[in-house]
Amino acid sequence: MAAASTPQSFLLQHPLYPSLKTLSYIPSKQHLRPRPRLSTVSCTAVHPAPASVSVTKDQGRIFNFAAGPATLPESVILKAQSELYNYHGSGMSIMEMSHRGKEFDAVIKNAESDLRRLLAVPDDYAVLFLQGGATTQFAAVPLNLCAPDDAADYIVTGSWGDKAFKEAQKFCKPNLIWSGKSDKYTKIPPFEGLEQNPNAKYLHICANETIHGVEFKNYPTPSNKDAIMVADMSSNFCSKPVDVSKFGVIYAGAQKNVGPSGVTIVIVRKDLIGNAQPITPVMLDYKIHADSASLYNTPPCFTIYICGLVFADLLEQGGLVEVEKKNAKKAGILYDAIDGSDGFYVCPVEKSVRSLMNVPFTLEKTDLEKKFIEEAAKEGMIQLKGHRSVGGVRASIYNAMPLAGVEKLVAFMKDFQARHL
Ligand code: PMP
Repeated sequence: MAAASTPQSFLLQHPLYPSLKTLSYIPSKQHLRPRPRLSTVSCTAVHPAPASVSVTKDQGRIFNFAAGPATLPESVILKAQSELYNYHGSGMSIMEMSHRGKEFDAVIKNAESDLRRLLAVPDDYAVLFLQGGATTQFAAVPLNLCAPDDAADYIVTGSWGDKAFKEAQKFCKPNLIWSGKSDKYTKIPPFEGLEQNPNAKYLHICANETIHGVEFKNYPTPSNKDAIMVADMSSNFCSKPVDVSKFGVIYAGAQKNVGPSGVTIVIVRKDLIGNAQPITPVMLDYKIHADSASLYNTPPCFTIYICGLVFADLLEQGGLVEVEKKNAKKAGILYDAIDGSDGFYVCPVEKSVRSLMNVPFTLEKTDLEKKFIEEAAKEGMIQLKGHRSVGGVRASIYNAMPLAGVEKLVAFMKDFQARHL
């Protein structure tokens, strides 16, 4: 009965096995064969194991318009699936191996070098894979860049920028130099008129407001020549080329455009590292992480591995110039459908700053919104509900949302409108 207690045989005996085997990767007989090194351990399956079953493209996948965690490229999911059980012949999955072993060392190094290629990150910038979400960076940024009495400027174009500003109040003296709140966060200010603090250490923006769908199309310059730009790029990271050299710090949670939740990527100019406030926890100190190549403590290994697969996929697509073209096309057909609906659908965001990633809209007849979202879900288009703070509908159409998903949504919108005039 030794075999019955192995994890493999447990899976094979599972009552859902017949259906599971069509959905997920099931170990093949070859994988279950004892490895010579482990000859005392018996791994015999009690049922004959099928040849490895791979899920084919389009098998039961739906269009997921969630704002994050968000849809990932199908090719990445399938590749991860194929490598999950026995990563590159190591005899274990990425989730089980040491973060200091040679396999993971290659994973994190490749992820970093592919990201550097994608964004053309200059050599004088460090790329860090950290934890705590972008929310932790709201504190880490002032802690690393300011003394407690230093000033910093914040332009607030939505809820995330507002959260960053409020968190900074604990660690420095931030100034709110512009807020779009009175316009319900539908605008970006003209840069000329901004009254920046001449002593500010940095100017912070949220490059794409995920809830409100407002995106910077270009960037202001700090008036203090020694100050730097800091951007939260969580929801448009790697969606288009960015001139990294215009920023001192770029940070982004992975779970929208580049991976699962669990890792936050920080790109920071090296000369800004090493001046953290003495109270800075080690986990928030850029120097600690830069000095140990993001391996000061146990990193989110599996998440970093998936990010690496996404970066490789983006490079294979031709890099961010090509990716941006695809994103512009997808967003274009969705905004055209909204604007061409004679007011049935309305996007409140000023046209010039509409996000290519998050498209919020309302229905003129607001009482129909619930029905719209429910019917779309029945058609295989899920997570279209607007953020709880603003309501309405929001379609997040990150890099991994296929054009077909947006086309299906647009066709549904037209049909829904025709049925509810
Ligand atoms: N900034 C932006 C722009 C976001 O969209 C989010 C998450 N939705 C955050 C920050 C917070 O990220 P996290 O949940 O990773 O802390």
